Formats: sequence, C-alpha cells, structure tokens
Amino acid sequence: MLLGIWAGKLTQLILKLLGRRGTSFPGFVALKVSPKLLAKLGKQLESCVVVTGTNGKTTTVSLLREILKQDTERTWISNAEGANMTQGIVGSLIQSCTWWGKLKVSHALLEVDEATMPQVIPYLPVSHVVITNIFRDQLDRYGEVDGTIQKLTRALRGTSLHIVANADDPLVHYVAQQTQCPVTYYSMEPHSKILRSHNQIRDGAFCLYCGHELEYAYFHYGQMGHYQCPNCGFQTPDAAVHGMPQQEGLEVSFATERFLLRTDIRGLYNKYNVLAATTAAWLQGLSIQQIQNGIASYRPTQGRMQVFAGVPVRILNLIKNPTGCNSVLQTIDEDPGTKVVCIAINDMDADGRDVSWLWDSDFETYAPALQAETWICSGTRAGDMAVRLKYAGISADRIRVEPDLRKAHDLAIQNRHLPVYFMTTYTALFPMQQIIEEGLRHETLHPDRASVS
Ligand SMILES: [Zn+2]
Repeated sequence: MLLGIWAGKLTQLILKLLGRRGTSFPGFVALKVSPKLLAKLGKQLESCVVVTGTNGKTTTVSLLREILKQDTERTWISNAEGANMTQGIVGSLIQSCTWWGKLKVSHALLEVDEATMPQVIPYLPVSHVVITNIFRDQLDRYGEVDGTIQKLTRALRGTSLHIVANADDPLVHYVAQQTQCPVTYYSMEPHSKILRSHNQIRDGAFCLYCGHELEYAYFHYGQMGHYQCPNCGFQTPDAAVHGMPQQEGLEVSFATERFLLRTDIRGLYNKYNVLAATTAAWLQGLSIQQIQNGIASYRPTQGRMQVFAGVPVRILNLIKNPTGCNSVLQTIDEDPGTKVVCIAINDMDADGRDVSWLWDSDFETYAPALQAETWICSGTRAGDMAVRLKYAGISADRIRVEPDLRKAHDLAIQNRHLPVYFMTTYTALFPMQQIIEEGLRHETLHPDRASVS
C-alpha cells in the first residue's frame, strides 16, 4: 500500500512543481501501483457521506461541506471538484494522508459519479448516500438513463446504508425503492413558478414499474414534480423534509420545525441542492442554527452562477446536458432586462464528443424570451451552436460566431451596459474563468480603456 501512496504523492509533488493542479492523475498512478488502495484507505475512515446524481453533485457537496464545518467535533475531507471517479477519490484521500499511509481525518464527504458508484461503495464505510436527480447525461459516455438506474441500484442494494432521495424525481424514487435501504425523502412544495405542463424532454415520463405514462399535477423542472401512475399507483412518496422557495432563500420544514435558510443562491435547481444538503445535514445530527450558518456562508463554486463583479457584470455557468442547460436558461430568464449571452461548446473527451444533446435542450422555449441583445457562439463547436439557435427562432443578425474563447469574451463585454451570461461546457469552463479574471485585472489597472484588446 505504501508504494502506491508514495507513487501518488510523488506525482502530486511533480504536478505542483509544474504549476498544475489535479488529484485524478496522482490517484490513477497510485492505483496502478496499488490497485486495492481505496479499500485500504477506506478502512481508516469512521464514516462517509456520498453525493451522487446527474446534476447538482458539486454544489450539494459544497453546501454540505459548509454546514459540516459548523460541527467542530468532526473533521471531514472531500474530493476536489470533478474528481468524482475512483482515481479522483483515491487522489483526494492520498492528499490527506501521511507518507506512512495514515489518514489525518476520520470522515469523508464525497461526490461520486453515478457510473462509478459500484466501484466505490463497497470499499467505504458509507452511512448516507444523497441522490439528487437522474437525467440523461452525455450519451457517448454512460449510455442511457436505464444504465444509470441499474448501476445505482446494483451499488446500493443489499447494503445497510441510508438513502437521502429526491421525492420529486420518479427515477430517483424508483432507485430508492429498488435498493430496499431505509430512505429519507425531500420534496419541493408547489410555488408560484410551477408549470402545469411543459414540453421539455422528460426522462421519467413513463412509469418504471408498468410502462404507463405518468400523470403530473405540476412540474418544477425536467421530470421533477408531483407525479402519479394511473395504472399501478406509483406516485410521489411522502417526504420528511419539505422546501418552499422564497425570495430571500429557502423555507424548510421537517418534523415540527419550520425555518428560513437565507441565501442568494439563484435558480430552482440550486434550491433543490440546498434542500438535499439540509436533509443530509439534519440526518448527520447538525442543529438548525448550524445548518443556517453553513448555508449563509456558502459561496457558489466555479461555474455555478458564479458572479464576477465588474463593468459589465459577468456570470459564468457550466452546461453539460439538456436538463442542466434548460435550468441555466430558466435562471437567466429570471433576470429581467437586456443582456448578452455567450455560449462556448467544446467537444473534447471530458465534454462528451457528441453534441447532439444541444438539440434536446429547450432553446425554443427559453432563447427567444431571454431578451438577449446578442448571442455569441464560441468553442470548437461554435458553428453547431449557431445553427441550433437559428432553429430555435433567433434571427441570424443577433448571432455571432467566434470559435476563439478570448475573442468571444472581448466581443461579449463590448457593450459595457449589458450583463454577460457565459454558458460553457466542461473544458471551456476553466479557460473562460481565467480570461474573465485577466480581463477584470486589466480593467482595474486601466479603467480608462474601454475594452481589453
Ligand atoms: Zn405504473
């Protein structure tokens, strides 16, 4: 085991000397040397909380981390953003252990990719698994939703761990039932912005027990809502924890308690993440005061409605699948007034080579209503994005194509009066963040210059 840890730690050191960051590659090297490293390190942990699901894993983990920090009796480690496959998890554990292989912490809070769950769950002392939602992700990486459901069920069935599940997602509900584990459900109550019907792609439109079409009293977004199968009776389960979106944050109720979590987190999908983190924290024994303090101290992670103050204000968002893309468009739509939207689509391995998911995203509903003065399409698939917008009814004179990220950014901020919303796929996210930060630094140094060149 020590050889693996040394290999991993040396790789980390070399990367650090080269000015590179990352935990996945050191983890990969360590596992090559000691394939059973996860099991060996996992044995040293007292307990572990896992967050999985298609969207919202990173935000839910970040929120939960802030809440758990309020409990000074326990120390937690968690994996770096996106390092949610076996090698990333091992890399993060190695970072927190000594050269002699001893972990410096006793608890772990981990974001785990849905497809990686079967390789991870058996080797860690997991007490709770949070399942946020199940949507279609990039097809070329994981196959259909059915595959995800099978992998999650296989990883969890027969274990004694406790599941924290989104009651409003029929797919998550089905998985939770199939595992036969104890489950605590959370649910969002109907509010002013619920949809009575909608035409977004719904992965869970049909009952997984009998194949009959589900009937909905209302939708929140995607297949999330209040559902019932008229044929077999499968329906939204009773939830222990309820959320109600408010202007100032999220009102939460459980048992006889009802309280407000103050947060400026935007978007209904993010309020679901707040609800998931709150439910998990409550099950971990945190007090309402600790939960409130933790949520209040949370700052958005990279690319999740990440706001860069400046002139103009810039807001950066990661998009990677249809539902996530729809949620971001829906949130941009909540911002009244004219704006500029810059979408950067890459098709590297980490983005998913197949960009056909752009056609499953509901640009028809949101794009024309967004009041975007200009749409700037960037990245290696800038042309595909422009075609997609044209089909969604955006007139060609409002679409600009600029594959180069830096030039696209400069074009986007040209009109200094309009806020700019950036939407990027995974491999364009970090470069765009750097470009934005450089631009802001330059503007602070040279406030007289109208734009960065
Ligand atoms: Zn049914």
